[in-house]
Amino acid sequence: MKNAHNLFGTLQEFETGEGRRGAFYSLPQLEQAGVGPVSRLPVSIRLVLESVLRNCDGQRVTEQNVRALANWKPDARRTEEIPFVVARIVLQDFTGVPLLVDLAAMRSAVARLGKNPKVIEPLVPVDLVVDHSVQVDYFGTPASMEQNLEMEFRRNRERYQFLKWGMQAFDTFKVVPPGIGIVHQVNLEYLAKGVLGCPCALNSQPSTLYYADTLVGTDSHTTMINGLGIVGWGVGGIEAEAGMLGQPVYLLTPDVVGVCLTGALREGMTATDLALTLTQMLRKAKVVGKFVEFYGPGAAALPVVDRATVANMAPEYGATMGFFPIDAECVNYLRATGRSPEHCRTYENYYRAQGLFGMPPKGQIKYSVELELDLATVTPSVAGPKRPQDRIELPNLKREFVAALAKPIAENGFGKTAADLEKSFVVGIHDGFHPGGGSQEPVSQSQAQARDTNPFTELEMANNRPSPGAVSARAIPSEARIRHGSVLIAAITSCTNTSNPSVMLAAGLLAKKAVERGLRVNPLVKTSLAPGSRVVSDYLARTGLQPYLDQLGFNLVGYGCTTCIGNSGPLPAAIDEAIGKHDLVAASVLSGNRNFEARIHQNIKANFLMSPPLVVAFALAGRVDIDLSREPIGQGKDGRDVYLKDLWPSLQEVRDLLQAALKPEVFRQLYRDFAAQNPKWNQIPAPTGEVYQWDTRSTYIQEPPFFAQFGPQPGGIGEIKGARALGIFGDSVTTDHISPAGSIKQSSPAGKYLLEQGVPFEEFNSYGSRRGNDRVMTRGTFANVRIKNLMAPGTEGGVTRCFARACPCPPGGVVPIYDAAMAYQKEGTPLLVIAGQEYGTGSSRDWAAKGTALLGVKAVVAQSYERIHRSNLVGMGVLPLQFKEGVTAQTLKLDGAETYDVLGLGPGLKPQQDLTLRLTRANGQMETIPVTCRIDTPVEVDYYQHGGILPFVLRQLLR
Ligand code: SF4
Repeated sequence: MKNAHNLFGTLQEFETGEGRRGAFYSLPQLEQAGVGPVSRLPVSIRLVLESVLRNCDGQRVTEQNVRALANWKPDARRTEEIPFVVARIVLQDFTGVPLLVDLAAMRSAVARLGKNPKVIEPLVPVDLVVDHSVQVDYFGTPASMEQNLEMEFRRNRERYQFLKWGMQAFDTFKVVPPGIGIVHQVNLEYLAKGVLGCPCALNSQPSTLYYADTLVGTDSHTTMINGLGIVGWGVGGIEAEAGMLGQPVYLLTPDVVGVCLTGALREGMTATDLALTLTQMLRKAKVVGKFVEFYGPGAAALPVVDRATVANMAPEYGATMGFFPIDAECVNYLRATGRSPEHCRTYENYYRAQGLFGMPPKGQIKYSVELELDLATVTPSVAGPKRPQDRIELPNLKREFVAALAKPIAENGFGKTAADLEKSFVVGIHDGFHPGGGSQEPVSQSQAQARDTNPFTELEMANNRPSPGAVSARAIPSEARIRHGSVLIAAITSCTNTSNPSVMLAAGLLAKKAVERGLRVNPLVKTSLAPGSRVVSDYLARTGLQPYLDQLGFNLVGYGCTTCIGNSGPLPAAIDEAIGKHDLVAASVLSGNRNFEARIHQNIKANFLMSPPLVVAFALAGRVDIDLSREPIGQGKDGRDVYLKDLWPSLQEVRDLLQAALKPEVFRQLYRDFAAQNPKWNQIPAPTGEVYQWDTRSTYIQEPPFFAQFGPQPGGIGEIKGARALGIFGDSVTTDHISPAGSIKQSSPAGKYLLEQGVPFEEFNSYGSRRGNDRVMTRGTFANVRIKNLMAPGTEGGVTRCFARACPCPPGGVVPIYDAAMAYQKEGTPLLVIAGQEYGTGSSRDWAAKGTALLGVKAVVAQSYERIHRSNLVGMGVLPLQFKEGVTAQTLKLDGAETYDVLGLGPGLKPQQDLTLRLTRANGQMETIPVTCRIDTPVEVDYYQHGGILPFVLRQLLR
């Protein structure tokens, strides 16, 4: 048992919910001891301070760290880094599998050195939720969920076997199996405790030390948990691995933006409308890299589920967190979701003892920036067609879509004419696509099964991940018309919204009214309902709303991310062909949080985020160029126009049903003994042993080369000479552009590799699911079909101009980026990537950095970076450099034919110091420009010197 320190006399006691005394590190005592004005600090900073104080050991965390954070100033220059030791870690499977692969590779490396592989062991609890792998192959029938789950297990068996090996090999690594829910909703409803306890010795007596629940997760939307007053955010897998192995997560002391919420949402407004409004407002306020803390009477009145929807979208507004302080609403939520009464009392008592209970009023805390939003000003909103921060008021959607359609491509439009909007095209579809176009009677199980056994040859997918015989086999008209703005995917998806019963019930109520009025979903729309936990199905069944959703095609397709992560599944070939042939700007509507190009579906260019009830409404309308505030959504069975306002549920209707939604016993029952409830998972055999036996034939799990050359001493830091550009990119290149998660094209380097390994096209699965195999992932880096490399104007997809002598093409010829990188590697030429603003925006995807490193890229030079991607680059030993204000690839007239040197790099490298980029043009002309080294903290210098975080941590552990 660990002897607890008592720095500044802060080790104190409080009364737990079980009537016993428990120990804690007292923040009020820290203030009384004169260390700093703790009670005036933002709540989020105080929670991080608690971790810093508790983990102070004079080595990883020092007394100076405590003093510095206790004296956080709202407007200080940010130079200090905070060593933040988190209480636990959450993972999803796309990022979790590669992380486990790295841990397994570290064990193999340690074993090869003749040491004990058990030195590699997570030191904090790790929970992995398998949620990202389910795809919408089947939809619109009662059997869809089972069929998709079956397909998921078939596709991912190898990965799941590997996860089961991890469960037995590591003591603190737990897995929530497939078919249970989405990581952030499962975290909110089950994993999060709010306050944690561990055994300690107090005055030489055994006691329990209580501390704040804090975490990092390998998913950007980990911030959803901020809605429950828990500090946590998304990090790259590389940082999470370091965190697991006892390293603090380092962050530059943040500014904290206070957002005072006043008033209340008006009748008919949803938490999604609020989240989209705040996303737009906070993007404009430039909160990137900052904590955002909501407070005030409006925040106090929001239930935790609404707070969670807002907090979830922190990555979309660019903040590190979107934090709501702890108050009685949090206790209510914990109680309603089945946490024990004793635990809820301990939770409340702990935060009261810390002086952290209750929503702060205006003026109590001085924030770096103060903003305000009157909730009464929130209006019905959607966001799109390409970015989540581009909010559009619902009545303006038609106008905005038409404008975007006509805007030139260079201005981020679609480059069509107004006349194009008038054209429509016949899609020759034979029987069997959508029930909403057919009978209004519910589809019975037997009917559905009969349909599902129909041969379905013409509707096999032509896009996304192929699946033998997949796609729903349901009633479909013989032909339908498709045009710009046609809604082809309508998905109630994403933990952002499915964790919020009020918007899910609103969707069900809207479906009920629509069915009662005799409305039908447009037959071309692929509809799906994929909640983030089984609790949603329970309350939709309990309230009698699911049958109405079913009648509109919103049958359950699975419990997982599905469309939100781009696993929307295939569209019928006829529709794909029509889109391609006529270059149609088709639309998706979804209750997700991201809509970057090609994320939702490769052939759908306009993607709109909205609340679940609006998703149902647009599925009924079948198009996005409609003003739902004035135009009818359709005609009822009585032949009369039906408007959105006729279908929209009142606040009271939703509230009446909410009572049925949150039942503690349901949460307790559904979050018990996952294995017993999951026979498919149980049937998967689990390999055993401390060191993983790599199967070199596997196309899913391979030992990565990160430790192949590993030795006890790090290398040095030296200048980069004679580098070539692998790509020159514009603004807002996302991690999905760099390392796509979706489908693998047959003709791509990754596709060719898989074919060579004997994997048939229909078993390619996705990049996301193959992140345990570096061979696939390196080939897939920069392979997004929509990425535009300015070195090869007029092209789209992962190609570049190659000047390597080892390349078979003529100098400057256009080849796949992977092929060029390998040719450069052969001749020992280092590589650079040059980019615009917000490089690496989007999901926290460590393969975007790993793939970059494995291609041989030594440095990225960008105008600005997304926070996580920048740190991931450093974590993989890639140097992030930043152009000075006003300097871009365009002002420098770079065309990729140049060679580059990075000068000034050496052993004395300092965080954020200036370096020199020297470019030599094809005509021999030389130019030097200053750039900022975006290695931001001293520890990052160490990481860089060691070739990345993992070699750094491994050397520490071995020492
Ligand atoms: S549903 Fe979307 S936001 Fe939630 S974990 Fe999955 S991909 Fe991330």
